[in-house]
Amino acid sequence: MKKLMAANWKMFKTRAQAQQTANELLGLIDGKLPSDREVLIFPPFTALSEVAEAMRGKQGCAFGAQNFYPREDGAFTGEISPAMLKDAGCTWALAGHSERRWVFGEDDALVGEKVAYGLNQGLRMILCIGEKIEERKAGKLSQVIAEQLQKGLAGIKDITPGDLAIAYEPVWAIGTGEVAGPDEILDAHACVRKELAEILGDTAMETPILYGGSVKPDNASAIIALDNVDGVLVGGASLLAESFSRIVLA
Ligand code: PEP
Repeated sequence: MKKLMAANWKMFKTRAQAQQTANELLGLIDGKLPSDREVLIFPPFTALSEVAEAMRGKQGCAFGAQNFYPREDGAFTGEISPAMLKDAGCTWALAGHSERRWVFGEDDALVGEKVAYGLNQGLRMILCIGEKIEERKAGKLSQVIAEQLQKGLAGIKDITPGDLAIAYEPVWAIGTGEVAGPDEILDAHACVRKELAEILGDTAMETPILYGGSVKPDNASAIIALDNVDGVLVGGASLLAESFSRIVLA
């Protein structure tokens, strides 16, 4: 299973900035990317074509969308469909990122619809899950993980290994500079793997589980080395090519 080194650029970067960062990043990792790692970039929609251009012909790299609406087309002002994203060259998409859940009010049912629809449309999906600090303090970590996975994967029947990844991102560690400790990551990822095995059977072992939450160049290699950590999803530290390249090669 390849390790997925994913950059979430959120609502940052003009087209020119995205082009420059993507080109610089690809230059920095050129010839150095281990064959068991894949680089994913999730730029804002407006910069998809610049990232597509920068990645043309590059091995071990792909890009995708941070969000979409799970319908083919229609009167959904402000939304974008998987068909449109595939037309723009996307092969991946995120669903359930904590900012979608907690800033835009997306619930588990909508997240589940997105995961099922995206997969059905041929996108590879990263389902993001993670607990809030008050849920962790109340001892509800495994309950939250189980519920988000069950509902987020509710519409899935057969899954082709490689089409689905999970990103465990504790809400309290996203964009805060507060990274989960090794034991916290080990615990949570083991819990994700166990729940995945109940939902997906054998495919659980072939489903990458990424960690996300204040990953930086100086903590990336220790995180990546942990059991059941099959990659990282990086926000802030992915915005600069130099910093993300060090994470990718960590
Ligand atoms: C994220 O956006 O998924 C994320 C983990 O952000 P950061 O790395 O900034 O915490």
